[in-house]
Amino acid sequence: MAYPASVARLIDAFKTLPGVGTRTAERLAFHLLRASDDEARQLAEALLAMRASVVACSVCNTISESDPCPICADESRDRSRILVVEQPRDVAAFEQANWDGLYHVLLGHVNPLEGVEARHLTMESLAERVARGGLREVIVATNPDYEGDATSLHVQRRLRDLDVTVTRIARGIASGSAIEYSNAAMLADALTGRVAMDEGA
Ligand SMILES: [Zn+2]
Repeated sequence: MAYPASVARLIDAFKTLPGVGTRTAERLAFHLLRASDDEARQLAEALLAMRASVVACSVCNTISESDPCPICADESRDRSRILVVEQPRDVAAFEQANWDGLYHVLLGHVNPLEGVEARHLTMESLAERVARGGLREVIVATNPDYEGDATSLHVQRRLRDLDVTVTRIARGIASGSAIEYSNAAMLADALTGRVAMDEGA
């Protein structure tokens, strides 16, 4: 049986979400059909409010409702250290691990197969932040996989001639896994065990 057009439209919309196939999309749509008007309206309003209020921080590129974000604006944090991550979700993971320095979000990783090169990331704005001075250390916390390693090398090369120590978090996290799914203790260990990056590393 074909679904009514409005139901089919919602199912199609859910299917554009990561990890949602036809069956899950149908289940979500039918759940919302049975839900109260209030419940359905709250979901729709939360989605619209998020889209209207969230911006990218002009300093570190993470998502925020203010610019600069609360982390960049916080004078009590260690402002001499920047942790470089791939995406805003990684910032959330390291906040759980009590990182108290600053961040720089690259907004992706180098992936030659998908045509993503270093110039598509926010590496130049990172280099500008470093060139402004006042930093002791840049810690690269890209994912421990092929793309993350390649990205980390690009960061190291871009910052090589600047006056800052570049380190990489330790491999406490299993190779091939993702920062965002690592627990706080693992991330804290990886931070503590970070190692200096040198040529050929
Ligand atoms: Zn920020």
